[in-house]
Amino acid sequence: MINDILNKEELNKEEIVSLLRTEDCQDVQLLFQKADEVRKVYCGDEVHLRGIIEFSNYCEQDCLYCGLRKSNSVLERYRMSSAEIMQTAKAIYNMGIQTIVLQSGEDFSFGGNDIANIISSIKKKFDVAITLSLGERDYEEYKLWKTSGADRYLLKHETSNPGLYPVYHSNQKLKDRVDHLYFLKSIGYQIGSGNIISLPRQTIEDIADDILLCRELDVDMASFSPFISSPYTPYRKRKNADLTFTLKVMAAARIVLKNVHIPATTAIATLDEFGREKGLQAGANVIMPNFTPNPYREKFSIYANKKCAKDNPLDCPSCLENSISLLGRKVATGKGQSLKV
Ligand code: SAH
Repeated sequence: MINDILNKEELNKEEIVSLLRTEDCQDVQLLFQKADEVRKVYCGDEVHLRGIIEFSNYCEQDCLYCGLRKSNSVLERYRMSSAEIMQTAKAIYNMGIQTIVLQSGEDFSFGGNDIANIISSIKKKFDVAITLSLGERDYEEYKLWKTSGADRYLLKHETSNPGLYPVYHSNQKLKDRVDHLYFLKSIGYQIGSGNIISLPRQTIEDIADDILLCRELDVDMASFSPFISSPYTPYRKRKNADLTFTLKVMAAARIVLKNVHIPATTAIATLDEFGREKGLQAGANVIMPNFTPNPYREKFSIYANKKCAKDNPLDCPSCLENSISLLGRKVATGKGQSLKV
């Protein structure tokens, strides 16, 4: 049964749902194997590294699942200076990594021009691609940052269920999120979206829709990360996503989306010591090592016990290449542009 689905060129929602419901161990292995084959055909054996700088944990939003939410008054907030951001960018570039991801909460005290200046300073000094992950901002700002040199924008839709979206994100609408993604694409950004797996009240059908929304948006990158409960949020007592289920979602996403970049996220590494390696064998082709310097790093606490560079071999420069080659893969050179261009 599962083989029939795995061999189809284009899967519909019911078929994706049955992949995600697969419990039989052999079938689950077949699913991972197929995802690994599809990954090899469309992405090859190269693993792309994206160095992340989490430059501010201030956030105007109040997402129910996220530790950076505005109402979390326990979290000590920080903003990195431009000089600190540049220093970190240099460390990433010196490691041979040619994508820099600038990520923050929705922090409007970094105005359009501030971000534009950071982008152009990085681009002037280093031959890198820049991904922005700053949440929803003004369309004019997106345009300005594109002309300043930004290449990609990562804005996860988080859930494609229009009824649940405002439950998790008070005051926000799914339609706006999707409109922003289409706009970003229309002005030339490579776009990234994706979901959080196993949020409270979310169904398997919702997750199939999340994958299908990524197909509809024709994303260049898609990130499916497990929900991990975060203290000081309304969901602090909710159950974390299951590792195998997370891998099934990533595998199904690879089979459906084909030529997109899919990261093995820090969140999956947090769920399981070898979560990222397992993700790389179930469809993923990207790792996003965290370069946020101390003392800030531990303060970008979107969820509990987030894996930090110092205790994860994949984040340690000297071990990184080794871990990847142990999987029979290699670290990519170059910027790792969209597989669709
Ligand atoms: N402000 C930016 C970046 C947010 S942090 C934005 O809105 O896009 C990056 C990602 O962390 C979010 O997109 C969300 O998917 C993820 N995240 C937040 N809380 C989480 C949790 N408890 N478990 C798993 N992922 C979480």
